[in-house]
Amino acid sequence: MTQQQRTAVVTGAARGIGAATAVRLAADGHRVAVLDLAESAAKSTVETIEAAGGTAAAFGANVADEAAVRDAVAAVTDRLGAPTILVNNAGITRDNLLFKMSADDWDAVMGVHLRGSFLMTRAVQEHMVAAQWGRVVTLSSVSALGNRGQANYAAAKAGLQGFTKTLAVELGKLGVTANCIAPGFIASEMTKATAERLGVDWEQFRAARAKEIPVQRAGEVDDIAHTVSFFVDERSSFVNGQVIYVAGGPRT
Ligand code: NAD
Repeated sequence: MTQQQRTAVVTGAARGIGAATAVRLAADGHRVAVLDLAESAAKSTVETIEAAGGTAAAFGANVADEAAVRDAVAAVTDRLGAPTILVNNAGITRDNLLFKMSADDWDAVMGVHLRGSFLMTRAVQEHMVAAQWGRVVTLSSVSALGNRGQANYAAAKAGLQGFTKTLAVELGKLGVTANCIAPGFIASEMTKATAERLGVDWEQFRAARAKEIPVQRAGEVDDIAHTVSFFVDERSSFVNGQVIYVAGGPRT
C-alpha cells in the first residue's frame, strides 16, 4: 500500500535515533521537519534526506519552551505543510543516584521529556484534528521500569507512557493514534555519554550490554526508526495507546 504523503515533525533529529527516524520517514515518502535545539545542528540530517531524493527542512527550537514550540510548528506549516505526524524523540539524561541528584537535574529531565512532549503534541494536534488523521509516536525507555541512577529519567519515561495512553483515549475518535516506543540499549551519543560517565571504554561497555540481551547485540538507531515507521503507517490505524519494548528481548 502506498502511503499518502504527510508532513512529519521529528524532535531531537540532529543525530541518533531522531536522525535515523527522520531519514526513514522521508524514505517512506513523507516531508520531514528536522527539529533540534539549533537549526544549524539539524542541517546534516536534512542534507542526508535531500541527497536520497527526499524532502526536509531544518528547524531550531527548545521543545520545553512554549513560545519556541508555537513558532516552530507555525514555521513547519508554512514551509512543509500542516504536520500530521509527530515523533517526540528529543531527550536528555542527567543521571545520578537519588541522594546526589539536584533539583535542577530533576527539572531539566522533566522539562525536555514531559513538558516538551506535551507542548509539541498540543501544538501539532490542532493540525491532526483538522485533517481527521494523525500519528503521535513518543520515545519512552526500558528505564521506565526502574533503573539505578535514573530516578528523574525513569519517572519521565514512565510518565510518557501515561501521557500516550491518555492521548490515545482523547484523540482516537478524531483519527489520531498515539503510541510509545521503549527502546533498550541503543548505540548512540546518549549511551556513549553513559559509558564515559561510568569511566568504561565504549566498545567494552557495548559488548558487555550486548551479552545481557537475548538477541546478543546492541540495538541500532535503525531498529527504532523501523518501529516508528510501523506506527506511522496508514495500516496501523487500529494500533493505539500501546507501548512496544524494542529491546532485543522481553520486558514487562
Ligand atoms: P541523543 O542524545 O543522541 O540525541 C538526542 C537529541 O535530542 C540531540 O540531537 C539533542 O540536541 C536533542 N535535544 C535535547 N534536548 C532538546 C530540546 N530541549 N529541544 C530540542 N531538541 C533537544 O539521544 P538518542 O540516543 O538518539 O535518544 C533519542 C530518544 O530515545 C531520547 O528520548 C532518549 O531518551 C530515548 N532513548 C534512547 C535510548 C538509547 O539507548 N540510546 C534508550 C531508550 C530511550
